[in-house]
Amino acid sequence: MIKRMIKTCHRAILFSLVLISGLLLFTGKLPADEGMWPLSELQRLNLQEKGLRMDPSLIYDPSKQSLLYAVVEVGATGSFISPDGLIITNHHVAFGSVVAASTPEKDYLKNGFLARTRAEEIPAAGRTARITESFQDVSARVLSAIKKNMSYADRTRAIEQQIKKIVAEAEKANPGKRAEVAEMFPGKTYWLFLYTVLRDIRLVYVPPLAIGNFGGEDDNWMWPRHTGDFTLMRAYVAPDGKPAEYSEKNVPYQPRTYLKVNPGGVREGDFVFLLGYPGRTYRHLPASYIAYEQNVRMPAVADWYEWQINLMEEMSKASREVALKHDSRIKGMANTMKNYRGKLAGLRRLNYLAQKRQEEAALQEFIQADPGRRATYGQVLPGLEKIYGDMGLEYPRVFVLENLRRSVILFQNAMTVLEAAIERQKPDLERNAAYMDRNFNQTRQRLALGLRTNFYLPTDIAIFKELLKRALALPEAQKIEALSRLAPSGGNLDEAVNNLFKSTRMANSDFIRSLWDKKPEEISQVDDAMLRLARDLYPEYKKIEENNRARKGQMDELQARLVDIRQEFLGKQFIPDANGTLRLTYGRVEGYEPRDAVYYRPFTTVRGIVEKTTGQEPFNTPPDLLRLISQKNFGRFINPDLDTIPVCLLYSTDTTGGNSGSPIIDADGRLVGVNFDRAWEATINDFTWSQRFSRSIGVDIRYVLWILQDLAGAGHLLEEIGIK
Ligand code: ASP
Repeated sequence: MIKRMIKTCHRAILFSLVLISGLLLFTGKLPADEGMWPLSELQRLNLQEKGLRMDPSLIYDPSKQSLLYAVVEVGATGSFISPDGLIITNHHVAFGSVVAASTPEKDYLKNGFLARTRAEEIPAAGRTARITESFQDVSARVLSAIKKNMSYADRTRAIEQQIKKIVAEAEKANPGKRAEVAEMFPGKTYWLFLYTVLRDIRLVYVPPLAIGNFGGEDDNWMWPRHTGDFTLMRAYVAPDGKPAEYSEKNVPYQPRTYLKVNPGGVREGDFVFLLGYPGRTYRHLPASYIAYEQNVRMPAVADWYEWQINLMEEMSKASREVALKHDSRIKGMANTMKNYRGKLAGLRRLNYLAQKRQEEAALQEFIQADPGRRATYGQVLPGLEKIYGDMGLEYPRVFVLENLRRSVILFQNAMTVLEAAIERQKPDLERNAAYMDRNFNQTRQRLALGLRTNFYLPTDIAIFKELLKRALALPEAQKIEALSRLAPSGGNLDEAVNNLFKSTRMANSDFIRSLWDKKPEEISQVDDAMLRLARDLYPEYKKIEENNRARKGQMDELQARLVDIRQEFLGKQFIPDANGTLRLTYGRVEGYEPRDAVYYRPFTTVRGIVEKTTGQEPFNTPPDLLRLISQKNFGRFINPDLDTIPVCLLYSTDTTGGNSGSPIIDADGRLVGVNFDRAWEATINDFTWSQRFSRSIGVDIRYVLWILQDLAGAGHLLEEIGIK
C-alpha cells in the first residue's frame, strides 16, 4: 500500500513538473498556487519569481510604508485609495449601511448616492474599518493554560480565559488599539493581532442597484459577470487623529499608505495578488466533517434560507418601506443559499467525500504501520468521526434553537437582554464576549440597528410559527419542553404565537434600553411574554454552549494531531485555514474550462451588459448607462485588446467570503480592480482549491473609473484618486 502511495506521489510530482515546465515553456510564467498566506509566511513565497515586479518587503514590513496598511476590514475587505481616507469596497459589502440610510423617499439603494462635497457624505451605520497593525505568536502562552486531567470543557474554558487575559493586557499596553487572538491551527497555534478601529465611516458614492447588483442572484457566483459591485466610503477621525464615533467635527483619516490606482488595468496572463480578510476555510478537517456538511448542515440551511426568502419576498410586496426591511436579510441569505448549493454540486461533481475517505484510509494505514504513530494518532480519525456523527444526530434540535435566536428578532432581543443581565454580574473576563465591557456598547448598538432596519412584525411571527412547528415535530427524545408547553397538543398554535407577540415589548427600543442595567432578579420580575420564554429556554442554550465547549476541547486536541500526521504523511507544510485575519493570495488573470468544450475568457465588456438587459430586475440597466455604452465614447479607460470598456475579470487566486472588496493589485503594487465573488466551480474553495477551476471574480478598475467619470459625474473623486 505504502509503496503504491509513494508511486502515486512520484507520479503526481512528475506530472506536476511536466505541467509546470509545459506552462513555463508556453507562457514563461509560473502557474498560480493554493494559499491564503498569512503575512508572516511571505518569506516562504518567492513572489518575484511568480511575477511580482515590486520589492516584496513593500507589501509587509512594519518598518516601512507597507501596502498592508492600505487594507481594511469593513465587514469584508476594503482598501484606502487616497491620502484622505477614501475607501473602495464592494456594493454588497456596504449594502446594509446603504439600506439603513435609505427611505422610500430617498432611496439610495435603488437610485444610488453621490456626495458632491465632503459635507454631503452620510454615516454608514454600523460600519467600522479595522487596520492590522501588528501580529505575534502567542501559542505557548495560550496553551500553557491547559492543565493535565482537565475535562474537555474546562480545557476550552481555560483557553478562552487565557485569550481574554492576553487581549486585556495587550489593549492596556496599547491604548486605543483593539486586540484579538486568532486561532490559526486549532489546538496548536494562536496569534495576537493588534488593530486600529476607525468608527466614523461615511458613504461617498454608491452606484444604482441596477449597476452595483446587476444580475442579482441570477448571476451571483457565476461567470460571465457584468456587476459593477463597488462602493466608495470615507473614514473619519477626531481632529487629533484618534478614532472616534461620528461627529461633525471629525476630519478625514490620513492612512499611512494608500493604493495608487492603475487606470490602464491588467491584461490576460498578468500576475495579480490580493490582500484581504478571508473568513473561513475548512481544508484541514476530516472526511467526517465533509459528510456532516454535505449530508446534514448545508442542505438544511439552504432549504431553511429558501423558505425564509420566499416568505420575505411575499411580505415585501406590501410596500417599498416593507421591502427595505427585508432587502439586506434576503441578500445575505440568498448569497449563502446559492453558495451552499454550489458547494453541494461541486462536492458531488468531484466525488470529493469518497476522495477524502480514500486519502484517510491510506493515512490510517500509515498510522497503523508504526507502533509509535499508532499510539499517538490511532484514535484521531475515529474520534472525529464520532463527534461529527453525534453532531449530525443532534442537529434537528439544535437547528430549531439556533435559528429561533438567529432569525426571530424579538426573541433574539429578549435573549440578549436576559443574557446581559446574567453575564454582566460576572467579572469582566468571565463573561461571554458580547457582554464584556469592550464589546457591550456594540452589542447594544447592533440590537438597536437591527430593530430599526430589519424588523417587520408579520415576518417575525411567521418565522416563529414555522420553527415552533418544527420543534413540535421533533422526535420525543429531542423535544424542547418550553416550546412544547407553548402550544400543547390540541391547542391552537396560531393563537398561542399571536398572543406571545401581543404580550411583548421587545420591539420597543425605549423599553429595551430601560432593561440594560437590570439585575437578573429584576429581569425576572418584568412582565413580558417573550422575556419569559427566553428565561424558560435559557437552560437549553446553556446546555448547548457547554456541550460545544466540551466538543471543541476534544476536537482541538484531535485536529491538532490530525494536522501533524497529515503533514508528515503528505510531506507538506500546511498554511492555516482562513480565519478572518489578513492574508495574501496571488494568481494570474486567466480563464478556465468549466465543462467539456466550454472555455470562459477572463474579461467581460459593456457589450454583455446590453446583451443581458431585459428592462426587468435584475437586468434593468439604467437608461443613462445604456446611452453611454451606445455612444462608445470610452476614452482613456478602454481596454486596447478588447477595444471597449472591460467590466469584470477572472483570475486564479485563492479566495473565500470575506475577500469581498479585496483590492486586486498588479505586479507593481497598483489597484486594478476590486474582488467580489468566485465562479460557480470555485464555491468549493472552502474545502479544496484547484488551479483548474478555482477562479475569483472582480470588477475591473476601468469600469469603476468610467462609471465615476461619465455616469456619476464624480470628477472630484477621480482627481482625489490621482486620475487627472
Ligand atoms: N461574494 C463572496 C462573498 O459574498 C466573495 C467570495 O465568497 O468569494 O463573500
